[in-house]
Amino acid sequence: MSPVPLDRSALWPYEDGEPGDFYYSRYGHPTGAAAEEALGALDGGEALLFGSGSAAETAVLLGLLDPGSTVGVTQGGYFGTVVLMRYLERWGLRFVEFDQAGPPPDGVDLIWLEAPSNPMLTFPDLEAAAAHPAPVIVDATASSPILLRPLEHGADLVLHSATKYLGGHSDVLLGAVVCRDDTHHTRLLELRNRTGVGAAADPAWLLLRSLETLDLRVRRQSATALELARRLAADPRVAQVRYPGLGNPLAERWMEGGFGGLLSFDVAAGEEAARRVETATRLITNATSLGGTSSLIESRYRWESDRVPPNLLRLSVGLEEVEALWSDLDQALGA
Ligand code: PLP
Repeated sequence: MSPVPLDRSALWPYEDGEPGDFYYSRYGHPTGAAAEEALGALDGGEALLFGSGSAAETAVLLGLLDPGSTVGVTQGGYFGTVVLMRYLERWGLRFVEFDQAGPPPDGVDLIWLEAPSNPMLTFPDLEAAAAHPAPVIVDATASSPILLRPLEHGADLVLHSATKYLGGHSDVLLGAVVCRDDTHHTRLLELRNRTGVGAAADPAWLLLRSLETLDLRVRRQSATALELARRLAADPRVAQVRYPGLGNPLAERWMEGGFGGLLSFDVAAGEEAARRVETATRLITNATSLGGTSSLIESRYRWESDRVPPNLLRLSVGLEEVEALWSDLDQALGA
């Protein structure tokens, strides 16, 4: 049990006629502050919670950039990030996509990396990004601070969809940004206070609960995912496996203790066969999202057909036994 009590109050009385640390929950609440302290300690910076990963992304784009600013964003990352940037074009935001395994383009005002990217599982060159004059944000949703702490490798900001590994139980929608410097923290806090995109006490409390098991979950999911990635890569029914633990030198350089629980693979027999595989699994649930205790599989082509191969399946490895997961994948591939 989390030792921090869940305080759902929307307001707290003034102390001697003056606002204390907490007085109105849009500006902050004790449960959120405790969760931010815990997450900040894990990532080595100052954390801010938001209502979702997408709310955190919106806060960064609106709070740290000006109209006319250009973001250099990784190709093959979370498609919602680019959809959001396209949505904000009417407010004057610009973006260019680039291959994050190489140096970021000249002239951009913010560099947006994803480590590893969802669902293409590429890994950024953190050193090349840090050498660029623009600030660097790393969406480390798929690594979690257990496996990667980007602030230690030159990044200025880390973003998490805490809906995924940090929350870890598919029962909380939450986002976070962890800042290395005070200026970014102050600007994001102001954006959050003005717009009200912060997180409520309940999801913050669920995050505190989940952080207690984060290390155990992520290490176990990583070990299982590596074994499944190896077996899938050796299987003739699979054309390609995307997983940073299968020899990606950038991931090997910066990830520590595992390569995460997320992988993608292309079914050799094509799109129709891939759709049969995702609906034939029994233990693994055919659903979107990732990072929970139960394994999930889905064709990403249904959402982002302009960006991913039609036969690509994304697998989020949960806490089930590796042999049980393999036998489910094996029977589904044979279906
Ligand atoms: N970043 C990554 C890598 C994601 O996978 C997602 C969601 O899938 C998001 C950000 C957005 O997070 P949320 O769904 O919590 O808004």
